[in-house]
Amino acid sequence: MSIPDFYAVFGQPIHHSKSPQIHQLFAQNTQQIMEYQAQEVGADIFAKSVVDFFEKGGKGLNCTLPLKELAFKFASNLSPRAQCAKAVNTLILQKNGQILGDNTDGYGLVTDLLKNHGIALKHKRILILGAGGASRGIIHPIMQQIPEKVVIANRTIEKAIALALEFKKLGTIEGCGFDDLKGQSFDLILNATSASLSGKLPPLPNNIIAEKGCCYDLSYGSEPTIFVRWGLEQNAHKSLDGLGMLVEQAAEAFYLWRGVRPNTQSIIALLKQKYP
Ligand code: NAP
Repeated sequence: MSIPDFYAVFGQPIHHSKSPQIHQLFAQNTQQIMEYQAQEVGADIFAKSVVDFFEKGGKGLNCTLPLKELAFKFASNLSPRAQCAKAVNTLILQKNGQILGDNTDGYGLVTDLLKNHGIALKHKRILILGAGGASRGIIHPIMQQIPEKVVIANRTIEKAIALALEFKKLGTIEGCGFDDLKGQSFDLILNATSASLSGKLPPLPNNIIAEKGCCYDLSYGSEPTIFVRWGLEQNAHKSLDGLGMLVEQAAEAFYLWRGVRPNTQSIIALLKQKYP
């Protein structure tokens, strides 16, 4: 019997991670012989832990909070997606022994919106809440869908303005504070803040969701997040959480490692039932 290839996710905290269940379901779905574990790794021991992992025969790693920027610095080579995001969530052992860093978060979001929920981005007015690592990772793939405009609103206004400036060669994009949103409306509002994790809502004006507009929270949990509930109360056409993004970004990492694509829609449905 062949020895399973070995993969892991590093992060801190990591006990809540659904990645081991997701990759186990992917492996069953595609008949791959592999193992995938979650390991508590903080920033202080990140570089040594990655070196140990690959020296022991590990084939690929996911990196989550607070390690994505460290993984970006660690990788010997970077994909164009990782270069844009300045953050890495997937490390891949290459045939020459070097480590390639990629970022599959933005791909995961756009795939979930377009493929799983039929939410088009082309010619749409899109509001991104938050200007942290998650926002940085999703802007380029969103701009590739040719929206009418993208507005980034953040509590710390300077970060939103700086982020918008960085991507302005890709299309119409501006940064602002939450107060500047009064009187505007959007076809899609993406909550890329971490506010939901502490049960808080970014301060948004009423009537900000356009007719048939949708809300999407990158955060997720066993219950609908406070932002998902807010979207429903505001009569959004759809108000969704980020579980689908999580599965789609994982599927892209799995494809980079294994060269096969799992059936994500059936796995998202299964995860909702089995690991709510
Ligand atoms: P981060 O780099 O720490 O950035 C956090 C952002 O949230 C900042 O813009 C911060 O504003 C803002 N924020 C925090 N608390 C807030 C509050 N109470 N009101 C308004 N804004 C607030 O975190 P991140 O890596 O970008 O992650 C953001 C979220 O995305 C997390 O919940 C994470 O779980 C989720 N995520 C999901 C997936 C997925 O696959 N579904 C993938 C990646 C990330 P300031 O700049 O003013 O501090």
